Amino acid sequence: MIDPRGASGSSRTPGRMSHDLGRSMLGWLSHVEIEDLLGTEVVARLGCHAGGRTYVVPITYAYDGESFIIQSADGLKLRMMRQNPLVCVEVDHVDDLANWRSVVAWGRFEELAGPAATAALTLLRKRLRSFVVSETSPAGNQLTEGETRVRSGNGHASLYRIHLFEKTGRFERR
Ligand SMILES: Cc1cc2nc3c(=O)[nH]c(=O)nc-3n(C[C@H](O)[C@H](O)[C@H](O)COP(=O)(O)OP(=O)(O)OC[C@H]3O[C@@H](n4cnc5c(N)ncnc54)[C@H](O)[C@@H]3O)c2cc1C
Repeated sequence: MIDPRGASGSSRTPGRMSHDLGRSMLGWLSHVEIEDLLGTEVVARLGCHAGGRTYVVPITYAYDGESFIIQSADGLKLRMMRQNPLVCVEVDHVDDLANWRSVVAWGRFEELAGPAATAALTLLRKRLRSFVVSETSPAGNQLTEGETRVRSGNGHASLYRIHLFEKTGRFERR
């Protein structure tokens, strides 16, 4: 496991400023601030690694307090996560280059089926209701009782969770 605090392993106090870059301050987000950012945003970068290759793609998620719920059509990232379920995600909110918040989290991919998939799709639809519907968005798809895979615009899609087991948050503020 990589120590996110760096080689020194120095402890970090949530919310504490760790660097003063002139008038700009770089610091750690508290647990509450991390949860707030994950719950407020809906777009993340998902990084996966398999077969000696690393792949990062943007995805849309709903956060249930423990996991990201995501829907994806069959493709490269699903193939890679089935091979290696350990992934890394990044979420940020950028006001400008001196004012931003960012969370990096490590997690485990788990494909959903049956009632768990139905519940996940309901959560995703509710969270994304106010956003524009697109081909990759779950809002326009159909899921029937007991079905494990969702029919999407261009074929089949899967619902899955990324259970986040380690999170760090940074910010810069001016
Ligand atoms: C804001 C946003 C939200 C999105 N939300 C979702 C979501 O919730 N679920 C979802 O499945 N997809 C979402 N997408 C699309 C996603 O980023 C991928 O493009 C898509 O899922 C296909 O990924 P794949 O691995 O299955 O690619 P494949 O169809 O298997 O194609 C793989 C090839 O396409 C290239 N490629 C794939 N995606 C991208 C990309 N984004 N940019 C450049 N090249 C790419 C790869 O380099 C590779 O060569 C979103 C994209 C954006 C920008």
